[in-house]
Amino acid sequence: MSTSPKTEICDAIHARRRFLITSHARPDGDSIGSQLAMAYALEALGKDVRLVNADPAPEHYMEFPGLDRIEIARAVVETDAEALIVMESGDLTRTGVGGLDGRFTINIDHHQGNRFYGTLNWVDESAAACGEMVFDLIEALGVPLTIEIATHVYLAILTDTGSFHYANITPKTFEICRRTVAAGVNPGAMARRVFDQNSFGKLRLIGALLAEMDLLDGGRLAAMYLNDEIMNATGTTYNDTEGLINLPLTAREIQAVVFFKLGADGDIHVSMRSKYDVDVRAIAARHGGGGHKNAAGFKVKGPLAGVRDGILLELAAAIELGVQSRP
Ligand code: AMP
Ligand code: MN
Repeated sequence: MSTSPKTEICDAIHARRRFLITSHARPDGDSIGSQLAMAYALEALGKDVRLVNADPAPEHYMEFPGLDRIEIARAVVETDAEALIVMESGDLTRTGVGGLDGRFTINIDHHQGNRFYGTLNWVDESAAACGEMVFDLIEALGVPLTIEIATHVYLAILTDTGSFHYANITPKTFEICRRTVAAGVNPGAMARRVFDQNSFGKLRLIGALLAEMDLLDGGRLAAMYLNDEIMNATGTTYNDTEGLINLPLTAREIQAVVFFKLGADGDIHVSMRSKYDVDVRAIAARHGGGGHKNAAGFKVKGPLAGVRDGILLELAAAIELGVQSRP
């Protein structure tokens, strides 16, 4: 009988002592929650854990347990870790952390297109969040669900389902959430801590972005643009943009949103969100990025004028295809 990836990962964890856990650059609630739930579980088993990410978490996550323990580094120079655990990353470069190649690597992800770069690979595209997989793994490891672990699992699911908006939510999603709430998580407080954390600057940023938003494709497509001027004028930083892409989708007519974020290096980070069967992942994949059907992203070289129209055409085509099978 062949063993499952989860069982192999359990065995590998039990057989080792020192772990390095990382996730993707510009972390979100799922990557942070998966990493820290895993870290607390490993420590409950008496393991040593080091956490390294390329970028800091958005400010309002800093008060969640263990966030101060994540080292921010673009490369791991020295480590005696016996295993590397990578969450939520289709390949090692997605971590933005160098020096990770050639180690015993456990790859845990729920995105399509994962490259199976690990020594052990567990990729479950049906999981609503990587945190769901981590919950399963923690249970299989026999670690009790502490409030810290439960908090991070819930954070992962709450954010990666777009606060229970996306299509990949299953009974299992709620069963895991039920267990975390039974362990002491307060969903109302979590929603406030995650979603109601705007600064006044962020409110001004929302106003500025929406004022400059383009409505296209007969109102079915919205495009937003972030650049240094808008951030300077509103006193905000790149981190303040988290979640803003979802705002246009609250308009009934809008089926997809694209958010062009212009970086100082001339790179443009393209984020996309969509409703129902409008598939933005396929667009991201064509441009070397990834994600999910309703939430995907990629990076392109600027200038914006050279790439914008092509991407908008691809989105309009995806909307046309998607609305045909709308429930
Ligand atoms: P974002 O728009 O950056 O919030 O990302 C939405 C989804 O797309 C997330 O699931 C990301 O993991 C994924 N994603 C974003 N950028 C990339 C990229 N460059 N490569 C692979 N996946 C990405
Ligand atoms: Mn995720």
